[in-house]
Amino acid sequence: MKEDILVTFAYAKINLGLAVKGKRSDGYHELQTVMQTIDLYDTVKISLSGSGIECFCGGLSGPRNLAYQAAKLFRERLNSRQGIRIEIEKRIPVQAGLAGGSADAAATLRGLNQLYNYPSSQEELLQLANQLGSDVAFCLQGGTQWAEGRGEKLLPLAEAPEMSLVLAKPQQGVSTGEAYRRFDQLGRGHLLSFQAWEEALQSGSVEKIALLLSNDLEAGSQVILPVIAGLKEDLRKAGCYSALMSGSGSAVFGITHSEDQAQEIAHSLKQKGYSVWVTKTITP
Ligand code: ATP
Repeated sequence: MKEDILVTFAYAKINLGLAVKGKRSDGYHELQTVMQTIDLYDTVKISLSGSGIECFCGGLSGPRNLAYQAAKLFRERLNSRQGIRIEIEKRIPVQAGLAGGSADAAATLRGLNQLYNYPSSQEELLQLANQLGSDVAFCLQGGTQWAEGRGEKLLPLAEAPEMSLVLAKPQQGVSTGEAYRRFDQLGRGHLLSFQAWEEALQSGSVEKIALLLSNDLEAGSQVILPVIAGLKEDLRKAGCYSALMSGSGSAVFGITHSEDQAQEIAHSLKQKGYSVWVTKTITP
């Protein structure tokens, strides 16, 4: 093994578009979504030491952490009994629709593969990712991707231009399961157009991208947490190109005209009691 300690970043995602096509016989929903990496990350420190797996992540420590489960799966696949210690410094808010848990799991798979001196191909890591959760494959690939199925079948899209974002989250989160249950009650899904997204992204025009933002889960999550609608309205009124809830919420992002504008909006939203981040789209 090359080295026995590694520090890596686990980046959050936003959904620029999310359409629910229907419910499958296995209970999962069939999606179309445009996923984008953003510059908000947890720090994941991995070392090979002792025996067993240890995962330290504040209140999310231990075997229920998705990063722990990623390490277990990785080790089992290699028939290894090497001890693994994971320490996660969380910055990505939980129950926000930003795939924080999935990002930590993906960073753990990537980091362990490096520490073990690359025994698995990217294809093999993607297979492990799919056993862990729907968003883990995207978090491994990153950038701008079209996803289908449960969100695990990926197709690369043209890289999004760098867009300044203000991201805000009400104090309460939304559970993904409850968001889908509400969606089923309201039952109104739309389709996304791969071609329209590809064209808008290729043009590099933030206006064109902003016009396409849509999320079928928004209406249901707004029933659970009405403050989401108010937050979206605040972002629009403050002059964002557009605003949208990410994933199943409760975080909402606004695309701003500049980082300065994002800072100004962030300042006023903080005074209203939201947790707020100024960030941007990135391709890691
Ligand atoms: P998604 O867009 O994937 O639905 P989310 O923001 O709604 O993302 P997360 O915050 O990533 O969801 O995680 C949801 C639940 O997963 C948490 O409430 C927590 O119990 C569990 N979990 C397990 N591991 C982690 C982790 N490393 N970070 C955050 N949550 C984790």
